Amino acid sequence: MQAECGSQCIKPTGQSPLDVAKTKKNRWLIEKLARQRLEKGFDNPGWLKRKTMHNSEFRKYYMMAYPFFVLLCLLGFVYLSWQYSKRYIFDDNLGITIPFGIYLATKTWMYFTWFFYILPHINSGLIHLAFFANTALLMYHFYMAVKCDPGFIQTNRQQQSKVILDLAELETISVEQFCSTCIIHKPLRSKHCSTCNKCVAKFDHHCPWIFNCVGASNTRHFILYLTYLIGMILWCSYGCVTFWRNGCTTDEDKWVKIAVDRIRCSPWVTWIFLNCCIHLLFVGVLLGNMLYQTVYLGLTTNERINLYRYKHFSRNSAFYNPYSRGILQNCVDVMEVECGGLCRPVKTDWRNIYSLPGEQETCSRAPE
Ligand SMILES: [Zn+2]
Ligand SMILES: [Zn+2]
Repeated sequence: MQAECGSQCIKPTGQSPLDVAKTKKNRWLIEKLARQRLEKGFDNPGWLKRKTMHNSEFRKYYMMAYPFFVLLCLLGFVYLSWQYSKRYIFDDNLGITIPFGIYLATKTWMYFTWFFYILPHINSGLIHLAFFANTALLMYHFYMAVKCDPGFIQTNRQQQSKVILDLAELETISVEQFCSTCIIHKPLRSKHCSTCNKCVAKFDHHCPWIFNCVGASNTRHFILYLTYLIGMILWCSYGCVTFWRNGCTTDEDKWVKIAVDRIRCSPWVTWIFLNCCIHLLFVGVLLGNMLYQTVYLGLTTNERINLYRYKHFSRNSAFYNPYSRGILQNCVDVMEVECGGLCRPVKTDWRNIYSLPGEQETCSRAPE
């Protein structure tokens, strides 16, 4: 008999089935065995358990009403804390700061889940190494995307005086090329960001998730940040599945019952897994869109949305992009890929480009 079951056999060790389940960290089995021990009278039930364990009617109605009360408490807490915070703490910047806060909160809980739920179930050092390497790169590019000057255009009084002269008297600057807030001659592809209240070179968009603009200097970091964020979400999803596989084995065979067992086993891990799915969809669409625009079309988000406003994107009534240099070179330029000298990214200082190649430069900024 022993030869037939081979490595699947549990050798007698003097441990009870409950001890074995605890060693294996199988939550589903621990719960099931503990319940059976209680029903057979091996363990001493508490006062509340003694009162309810033989009243199945009460248990049924209690379980039916439980979600209602949980939801009521949760909504009550959210409503009261929101009203209190709105009255005494929040200010007008609420709409700008909340997405950044939501992002930090969800990522923090994902890491919490990795360390306290998933980590004990993963034995491979290679997986831990890959997860932490991804984390390090994610944090670096997130920090750079948030803290990096996206390409704010600086000016001084001397330059502002020259711009006013060029605009009003010499008329070498058109009104469209002038920013009345910064009092500057706007470089090509730049735009004034109403949130940062500054003009940004090669302005893409203002991103509330990084609390910063995406422009000439941080587009690369923003794209890499999204890429490693997807990596982190995939690792976290893999971790949740591993947790269920190792810690919540079930004897059910129907997928609905397996799903119910897994939710019961750990509602928290289920919640984090749902978060991962939603984030994957959201970040995936964002990254796909960024790559399509910057690499495939060679445009910024602002240019794509306001294409009709810029005359240079039309030639003989058809779409024409003077900035695109082909998919491969666009990718090399945006991501600044060098590959040990194999690729040569063209580094353009978009803070100082005022006209397209071949066009006459109407005005340039005064020397600093
Ligand atoms: Zn401006
Ligand atoms: Zn901005």
